[in-house]
Amino acid sequence: MTFGRLKVSFAWLVAMMAGVALAQTPAAPDWKALEGEMMRHYQAVLRLDTTNPPGNERLAVQYLKQVLDQEGVPNQVLSLDANRPNLVARLKGNGKKRPLLVMGHTDTVTVDASKWTHSPFSATREGGYVYARGAIDDKDNLAAALMTMVLLKRANVPLDRDVVFLAESGEEGNSNFGIQFMVAQHYAEIDAEYCLAEGGGVTRIGGEPRFATVQATEKIPRGIELVAKGISGHGSVPLKSNAIVHLAAAVAKVGAWRPEVRFNETTGTYFRRLAAISPPEVATQYRDVLSADPKLRAAADDWLFEHEPQHSSMLRTSVSPNIFAGGYRSNVIPSEAKATLDVRMLPDEDPAAFLAQVTQVVNDPAVEARFGAQNTRPAGVVARVDSEPFKAIEAANTRIYNVTTLPTMSTFATDMAQLRAKGIQCFGIGPATDLEDGPKGFGMHSDQERLLESELYRFVRFNYEVVVDLARAR
Ligand SMILES: [Zn+2]
Repeated sequence: MTFGRLKVSFAWLVAMMAGVALAQTPAAPDWKALEGEMMRHYQAVLRLDTTNPPGNERLAVQYLKQVLDQEGVPNQVLSLDANRPNLVARLKGNGKKRPLLVMGHTDTVTVDASKWTHSPFSATREGGYVYARGAIDDKDNLAAALMTMVLLKRANVPLDRDVVFLAESGEEGNSNFGIQFMVAQHYAEIDAEYCLAEGGGVTRIGGEPRFATVQATEKIPRGIELVAKGISGHGSVPLKSNAIVHLAAAVAKVGAWRPEVRFNETTGTYFRRLAAISPPEVATQYRDVLSADPKLRAAADDWLFEHEPQHSSMLRTSVSPNIFAGGYRSNVIPSEAKATLDVRMLPDEDPAAFLAQVTQVVNDPAVEARFGAQNTRPAGVVARVDSEPFKAIEAANTRIYNVTTLPTMSTFATDMAQLRAKGIQCFGIGPATDLEDGPKGFGMHSDQERLLESELYRFVRFNYEVVVDLARAR
């Protein structure tokens, strides 16, 4: 009897659950019909000059707020400086899972308007592209996150977790107004299990999507200064202690030095997966650099340094001497000269031990190596390949772009660093861009910036589907 009843209620439960699941799978938005709206928001934020410095992110926040208010998405503005506010919007879920945070920064790097064919804040559409500063850094993510919030609200998608949208200021060098302020003063508003932000995307070669990257971790910037000290004197009498000469030798040694190659879970997976989808000649280099044979590894390392410097930097803590300062007139031997090294540390690097290595490489008691005053980013958790978001992103990349997904470690820093330091697993995503566009001068931070209109539309769909996959009620 008990058994029979149990059977009946189990069957009933299965039927009910199926019904619930069906009811809760949101109807797909009509993407074609939404293109005009996506483009309108994207162009609107691109037309606001939020170059940092000075930022003026208030302009972007005003726009986003007005759209969200109109759509009935609850939001608030939080700021350390009224001209550099942050916006947080939240769609409530049933609380079964911890929140998902979706981010986009509102500031952009500066422009040299003389280098632009179209005015950098015109968001001109030409030949299938939209031209503007911020087109791929980061007003693409900003517009996509905005659309995702709007669409979730419109369709009233039932959620197992809150979906939180953060539009933060100051990413390009003043995170004290943005992510740092939010983490220090308003962490409860953005606390989440997972976050999606910039730093990844789909790479097209010859107009075809070839692979997707998801930023899972990032290097930590840590500037080092080399300071040479010598005796000052009249330029007509050369001195052995000349600070410029000592500094030049030190910079030359550091410049020729390539720190040890070291892989982590992210970069190991990245090179293995990249090898699997690359042409044979290049694939050999990716496999060799992972090899335990020091000879093979060194040859591949040399090849990458010459042909793919981006990949070379992913292999190690990198050092690039970028400022050389010393002397003030031709007939004076200066007593001091200073060089600034841009050091990008692997996430697990020991800074003190690395500084000691630099001192050893320089090997000159007249030259001191020390950390610069520039602010740094904290180390944090790595986003895992076997996690729920990575799987959702991977599935969306296969479905929408039909490409393999590679986890990457970015050589540059992002606002995800501060969140990862709080334990949030963060994933960097982005639209599809042409590999050929970078060398042509249309990349992030390049003289000009652009995005294909069709790839904006595709990215909004990608963003929405990943969020729905991770947050919808099941
Ligand atoms: Zn950015």
